[in-house]
Amino acid sequence: MRLSQMLFVTLREDPAEAEIPSHKLLLRAGYIRRIGSGIYAYLPLMWRVLQKVSTIVREEMNATGAQECLLPQLQPAELWKESGRWDTYTKAEGIMFALTDRQKRELGLGPTHEEIITAIAKDTIRSYRQLPLNIYQIQTKFRDEIRPRFGLMRGREFIMKDAYSFSADEESLAKIYQAMDGAYRNIFTRTGLAFRAVEADSGAIGGSASQEFMILAEAGEDEVLYTEDGKYAANVEKAISFPPDIEASPFKKYEKRETPGTETIEKLCKFLKCSPTAVVKNVLYEAIYDNGTTVLVLVHIRGDQDVNEVKLQNELVGLAPQYKAKTLLALRVPDESAQQKWAANPLPLGYIAPDLSDEYINSVKDVASKFLRLADKTVVDLKNFVTGANESGYHVVGANWEKEFKLPKLVLDIRKARPGDRAIHNNAQTLQSARGIEVGHIFQLGTTYSVAMGATYTNEQGEEMPLIMGCYGIGVSRLAQAAVEQSYDKDGIVWPVAIAPYHAIVVVPNISDKEQMEVAQKLYNELNIAGIECLLDDRDERAGVKFKDADLIGIPYRIVTGRSLKQGKVEVVERASKQSQEIKIEEVVTHLKTQINAILKG
Ligand code: ATP
Ligand code: MG
Repeated sequence: MRLSQMLFVTLREDPAEAEIPSHKLLLRAGYIRRIGSGIYAYLPLMWRVLQKVSTIVREEMNATGAQECLLPQLQPAELWKESGRWDTYTKAEGIMFALTDRQKRELGLGPTHEEIITAIAKDTIRSYRQLPLNIYQIQTKFRDEIRPRFGLMRGREFIMKDAYSFSADEESLAKIYQAMDGAYRNIFTRTGLAFRAVEADSGAIGGSASQEFMILAEAGEDEVLYTEDGKYAANVEKAISFPPDIEASPFKKYEKRETPGTETIEKLCKFLKCSPTAVVKNVLYEAIYDNGTTVLVLVHIRGDQDVNEVKLQNELVGLAPQYKAKTLLALRVPDESAQQKWAANPLPLGYIAPDLSDEYINSVKDVASKFLRLADKTVVDLKNFVTGANESGYHVVGANWEKEFKLPKLVLDIRKARPGDRAIHNNAQTLQSARGIEVGHIFQLGTTYSVAMGATYTNEQGEEMPLIMGCYGIGVSRLAQAAVEQSYDKDGIVWPVAIAPYHAIVVVPNISDKEQMEVAQKLYNELNIAGIECLLDDRDERAGVKFKDADLIGIPYRIVTGRSLKQGKVEVVERASKQSQEIKIEEVVTHLKTQINAILKG
């Protein structure tokens, strides 16, 4: 492609809208254009990158025996009502764009495709003989993200590869899951990215395996906790660990103390001269279930620890039947206006005790009349602890479970693991923290969707059984930007060769120099014929501008038809290392071919 004929516009300045390097660079180098919040156009260079990523994904998926298809983006509400996700996706999380057509039928724009594929499986799979199956597509997804940001990293319209597998038994599901794990490792290795596979939250279903693939980068929105021995890595949402040891409480006697202005643990511990590990902290949440019931949740947790809201949410979904609900719509810390709805009296915030009376809850319709009291495991062994006195400005010290306070029946792990905690598999290992960009997720779904939607098959014994499912996603457009986040320098993008939009760019310093143009044209043609995807910068621009642009757009090799032509040579510069070599004109094709093939073969 000739730059003189391309839609090619680069910016000298960093665009104000971009915060992270990869977003700035993709905008500056003319790969993407913002059309609206979380909505981007992929310009020709970007589209080539996306197609390269897609090709690698497709090759590795096909190699596992998965089959490609294309599913509709317009999805009838009925299917989402069957699976029970319509309300959560349109109301609670509100992540699905929903619309009503001219016949007054409700539809959603696909944020994901479990419902569609399960409906197809229900229609087409009859017998165990048709199993297992793994079907995938590479397509645009729509999600009304609360905070679209960082360009393609969190868009409202983005490209995903999503695969769905159907098996007759758990063993087959595990086998496909393994195959997907392998395919994902190949994909991320081939795209030239440094990644880490981590244990991931599987939601409330529990038990089922789930793994995320993280591209390690400072700008990542996810926190990964891992151990140096390489034996443990998990998303912080899921991570488990041993908490730090308890420091014994200095209080021997149970008594109420005046503790003015100590509404935070830090102030309290300073005032009482005790360790936060001697404190029971009581955190109030408001859980809203899908049947409209609000439940007030009081969590007891050790003073130095924090609640992991993902773990808490999963537990609350599990408790839904207790409130005659199916699922949880929202979990939040109630603000003042929320409290007004149900609080009979102003709550002693910052001074709450485990036995906060249920009388604080007004009898209002749709509000459970009793607190749901949950204890995190960290409070069970505390002796002579400090906790609130249910009175502003007062705490109690020297308290004990089953003496002054009752330990709730529900004792759970709802604590957030932290860097520095000791690892469960080996307590000599401590958890380390890294930032990651989630580019892939593989998940053993089980029978949740097939049971809800009645997708069954007949087994060898002639019995009707629900299909056992798995789902496997890759954020294709997010991955492309993550590659930039991992590979750039002060001059611009440094694409890994495998996903660069072009392998090489031939730069003509002066287009009115006949010899420079002739050699450049010849090399450009020969390189393309040899399968080296090549750009030709034949624009009427200063040489300096062209070199800057070539660096900015990050093409792996630059060939300059400049001064060395006199010796029958051209300059070949490697983008990543900036190393420059003068190479005989007739050797350029072989030279680059050898280099590129060596890199692609890895
Ligand atoms: P996240 O936690 O980042 O919101 P998710 O867990 O909701 O993502 P999945 O439903 O697992 O995402 O989707 C599969 C993949 O699609 C993710 O691993 C990610 O790479 C990509 N993805 C998800 N949401 C977006 C988005 N808004 N923009 C770009 N890519 C996305
Ligand atoms: Mg995910």
